[in-house]
Amino acid sequence: MGIRSFIMWFMSPAMKARVEADSRKWIATCPHCGAGTSVWDLGGIRYKAAGRPLTRFKCPACGKFGMHRVEKTG
Ligand SMILES: [Zn+2]
Repeated sequence: MGIRSFIMWFMSPAMKARVEADSRKWIATCPHCGAGTSVWDLGGIRYKAAGRPLTRFKCPACGKFGMHRVEKTG
């Protein structure tokens, strides 16, 4: 059970839907191939957050590690 599952355990269904919708708007862009992956699909949560943080993880599209810039869309 990941940290997200742990957090979601305490949320109501309506709250979970809001958090998921918000997390899906945050897209991490790969510096190698330019593929965009939502924070939600990466197993993360980003809710009511701001700024343009950098996250290091392995791109699911090209398989390379790199600093992904996370930006809000929509
Ligand atoms: Zn990539």
